[in-house]
Amino acid sequence: MLSMDPRGFPTSLPEFQRVFPDETACEVYLERLRWPNGFVCPKCSWQGEPHRFSKRSSVVLRCRDCHSNISLMADTVMQGSHALLCRWFWGAYLVTTNTPGMSALQFQRQLGITRYETAFQMFHKLRSSMIRPDRDTIGGQYPVEVDETYVGGRTRGEGRGVHHKATVVGSVEVRRRRDDEDRVARGRREHDGGKPLKRPTYGGRLRLRVVPDRQGHTLEKFVVESVTRGSEVRTDGWQGYDNLVNIGYRHQPIVMDGDPERAEEHLPMIHLVFSNLKTWLRGTHHGVSQRHLQAYLNEYVFRFNRRFYPTTAFNSVLGLAAHSVAPTYDALYSGAWVHPNQ
Ligand SMILES: [Zn+2]
Repeated sequence: MLSMDPRGFPTSLPEFQRVFPDETACEVYLERLRWPNGFVCPKCSWQGEPHRFSKRSSVVLRCRDCHSNISLMADTVMQGSHALLCRWFWGAYLVTTNTPGMSALQFQRQLGITRYETAFQMFHKLRSSMIRPDRDTIGGQYPVEVDETYVGGRTRGEGRGVHHKATVVGSVEVRRRRDDEDRVARGRREHDGGKPLKRPTYGGRLRLRVVPDRQGHTLEKFVVESVTRGSEVRTDGWQGYDNLVNIGYRHQPIVMDGDPERAEEHLPMIHLVFSNLKTWLRGTHHGVSQRHLQAYLNEYVFRFNRRFYPTTAFNSVLGLAAHSVAPTYDALYSGAWVHPNQ
């Protein structure tokens, strides 16, 4: 019996490897994703069982009517690669679900890949879609917390006051859990007059950016590009945010009185994000140079924003997002779908 989370995704690499043990299992998945209702020739629209054969770096389906060849790996990150499909699949699982992230060397060891160059190229290709920034704006119906922090930088051996820390600004949606709203309502009834319950909120979508400074126009530009106009924006009392109300945001600043607990209460979500981000950067990468920091921020954001959608993250790094049909892992697990060749 496989243990999976409620979203139907394996919860560990060994479980994942049992779902995708070999090339056939991966080919079935790719074909199923692309043609959930059976093969349809993209050239002549013929439907039915195609011929299947393997080429050096792809599996090819040939239409029985017009004899067109269609590569299963075309338009994916696996195109042109000689590495085994299941290695790609296992690698995609690792980079999207391993919370602390990993280095190319760890990646190579985990997958048992002999050549470092092969592992490095796979790792790089799988990461490339993670480090492309999400472009749409967040907020709207959800309030957004915005704050800045300092990241990284080695100060050892340098004079006092000299630091190479990068300034990072972030915005995150504050969402409420629906089931928790019900629980809170129950709790209020049951504990009427008692101490207030903790607010059952969680982080929605996130955006992070390296910025040169904390000046008003810098922070404003980030908010305009990452937060939907008209959204409620919560910040601390820093003057750099003073103009937000004039450019169409419902600005909710907190007046800082030197009490850090008040800021914690006002901006709990973005502070939690910053804290986890720093732990991840320190723990996995032993600090990151400023030149590469934005790529790591994007990777962090990619995982954060898809943490409830592991299947989406997995398909996305393999370049399968374009074929947007939801995969049916259940059918694959249960064996309900039989490969036509079997
Ligand atoms: Zn055809």
